[in-house]
Amino acid sequence: MLPQVAVGRHCCAQSTNLANYRPFVGDELIDEIVALADQLKGLRLCQVNATAAGGGVAELLARMIPIYRALDIDADWRLIFGDKEFFTITKGLHNALQGGDFHITSSIAAEYLAHNRQALEALDAHYDVFVVHDPQPAAIHHFAQPNPGKWIWRCHIDSSQPNAEVWQFLRPYVEAYDAIVFTMPQFCPTDLKRDNVVFISPAIDPLSTKNMELPDDMCRRVIADAGVNLREPILLQVSRFDPWKDPLGVIKAYNLVKQQRPGVQLVLIGAMAADDPEGWQILESINAQAVTDPDLYVFTNLMGVGNMEVNAFQRGVDVIIQKSLREGFGLVVSEALWKEKPIVAGAAGGIPMQFPEGYEQFLVSGAEQCAERLLYLLDHPDEAVQFGRAGREKVRREFLLPRLVRDELRLIQKVLAK
Ligand code: UDP
Repeated sequence: MLPQVAVGRHCCAQSTNLANYRPFVGDELIDEIVALADQLKGLRLCQVNATAAGGGVAELLARMIPIYRALDIDADWRLIFGDKEFFTITKGLHNALQGGDFHITSSIAAEYLAHNRQALEALDAHYDVFVVHDPQPAAIHHFAQPNPGKWIWRCHIDSSQPNAEVWQFLRPYVEAYDAIVFTMPQFCPTDLKRDNVVFISPAIDPLSTKNMELPDDMCRRVIADAGVNLREPILLQVSRFDPWKDPLGVIKAYNLVKQQRPGVQLVLIGAMAADDPEGWQILESINAQAVTDPDLYVFTNLMGVGNMEVNAFQRGVDVIIQKSLREGFGLVVSEALWKEKPIVAGAAGGIPMQFPEGYEQFLVSGAEQCAERLLYLLDHPDEAVQFGRAGREKVRREFLLPRLVRDELRLIQKVLAK
């Protein structure tokens, strides 16, 4: 049996009472969710992905499953197995969907398919609807046939310009799904049949420990306890250590800022994900720079930096950075804006759609531009405050969890009706 992630078993979580979201998103949306869920009561829903922690998909599923269960939808979250070899292949597929180089040899294809077949054999296939996330388990649907359930493939990646070889390999597996979800229309490869494609953007949970309100004093204590100097400006990037998140570019931008503001500090927080072998190598290069710079701080989940600490850092620093070169969505952008923080971010993938109107100049491409905008925000704190406020309102209207739950329930209803 595929391992099941234990979330939402107990009904004491804030998020299991939908009424708690009403003050944020209003009654109309919550009433619509309740009405949709009423028609889907007892539905057996299986969400399948490759990792229970580290990265946006795990973050989303951890928040959505308890809500579904509270709505009497029988939702489970199952993980496919993988060893280092498999995850090295799937990271290659992931990068290639974003346009990176990757050559699928016959042995790579065989390894990928064998893992998907094994995953399917270990999956209890008695669900009404499966939502399969990203390329790692994309072929399990193929091995599941015939199966009376409905199958949705949810791609979280910017696949607008995929590596042709990898896309041609994955496309037949993906096309066979009952519905395919991308974050935005631009991400849909041009040769994909569009009749069963829908676009749904991710969202953040305002009630999670990652995003809930925290007292200023607590945020300051968390940051001070980590050894960071609250009297000097603090910049922060929270991201997996991944080349597309460009942590080395962030350090370059910070070094440029430091030439003008010698006291500035940079905090990099990065979760090490089980399905991301590249992360360790990047962490090593970052650490090599951090040992010679007392103002460059590197923290990981392995050092006990969890959701609450991330929340405290996001709230307590001066400016947030998300200098992605490619980005599916970038939950961290909404997380920062929800906390009314100004952000300088890469003009990549799903990031611009999260920016409030009038603040597009803080979408950047190179380290120099990033440094220049960071300095501007440090020098113009009033504007930084306005930016943060506008950002929170944008997130409130478009990127909070109930909207995502509503969109997914609508889609489930649609595929069941087919
Ligand atoms: N995250 C975290 N700790 C870390 C790094 C990331 O909790 O050290 C969280 C982050 O707050 C966000 C998610 O992981 O909720 C990352 O999602 P995002 O969409 O930004 O990027 P992905 O990793 O999915 O590419």
